[in-house]
Amino acid sequence: MSLAGKRALITGSTSGIGLAIARALHADGAEVILNGFGDSAEIDALCAELGALYSPANLLDVAEIEAMMGKFGPVDILVNNAGMQFVSPVEDFPVDKWNAIIGLNLTAAFHTTRLAVPGMKAKGWGRIINTASAHSLTASPFKSAYNASKHGIAGFTKTIALELAQTGVTANCISPGYVWTPLIEGQIPDTMKARGLTREQVINDVLLAKQPTKKFVQPEEVGALAAFLCRPEAGNVTGANWSIDGGWTAE
Ligand code: NAD
Repeated sequence: MSLAGKRALITGSTSGIGLAIARALHADGAEVILNGFGDSAEIDALCAELGALYSPANLLDVAEIEAMMGKFGPVDILVNNAGMQFVSPVEDFPVDKWNAIIGLNLTAAFHTTRLAVPGMKAKGWGRIINTASAHSLTASPFKSAYNASKHGIAGFTKTIALELAQTGVTANCISPGYVWTPLIEGQIPDTMKARGLTREQVINDVLLAKQPTKKFVQPEEVGALAAFLCRPEAGNVTGANWSIDGGWTAE
C-alpha cells in the first residue's frame, strides 16, 4: 500500500487502459478520481468498487478541465490517459477529427499538467504518467493525427521531466502496443475500409502483425507498469518512454 495518502486523477478511466490503471493505483492504496464518459449506472458501480470520486469533464473544453482540476486538486498523481483514434487517408482526414485528436490526446494533457504541477512542486512529490503509444515511437499509415499527437505527447513528457527534474516530480510515458479495448474495436471498420480488408485480416494482418508476441497487451499489464512508476523505487525514472508492446518497436 505504498500509495496510501496519495490522490490520483486518471483521465479517460471509465474504460480500457485508464480503468486498469485506476484499479492498479487503488490496489496500491491511492485515492482515485475517475474521468471519462459512459453509462452513469456503470460509472456509479466503478466509483463504488474503487471508493472513487468522478469528474465528467469533457477534456476538449479547457474550462471543464480547469473546473475539474480546481475541484479535485491538488493531485499527487496525474495520469493523462484519455485518447481517441480515427483512421483515414490524410487527404480525406476530417478536419474536426484532426482537431479533436490533437485536442484530447495532446492539448488536454498540457492543460491538466500545467494545473497540477504547482501543487506537486509545493509538496515536493508528484508523478505524471502519460499514456502515449507505440505510435509515439513509430508510425502506421492512415493515422496521421494519432501519430502526430502521440509523438507530441512523448516530446512534451521529456520536456516537463527536465523542467521538474529537481522537484521530486517525475514525468514518464507508457507506450502500449495493441491492447484490446473499445478504442481498438472502434477502428476496425475504418481500417477495413481504408485497406480493403476483412475484420479477421485487420486483426491478424494489421494489428497483431505488428507485435512479435502475436498477442494483445492486457490492460492490467499497463496498470501494473503505471503503479510501478508511482512507487518510491521509481523516483529516478523520469523522462522515459516505456514500451509495453510485445516487441513491436524492437523491430
Ligand atoms: P477507450 O476508448 O477504452 O478509453 C478512452 C477513455 O477516454 C474513456 O474513458 C472515454 O470515456 C474517455 N474519453 C474519450 N473522450 C473524452 C473526452 N473528450 N473527455 C474526457 N474523456 C474522454 O480507449 P483505450 O484503448 O483504453 O485508450 C486509452 C489510452 O491508451 C489512449 O490515450 C490511447 O491512445 C492509448 N493507447 C491505446 C492502445 C490500445 O491498443 N488500446 C494502444 C496504445 C495507446
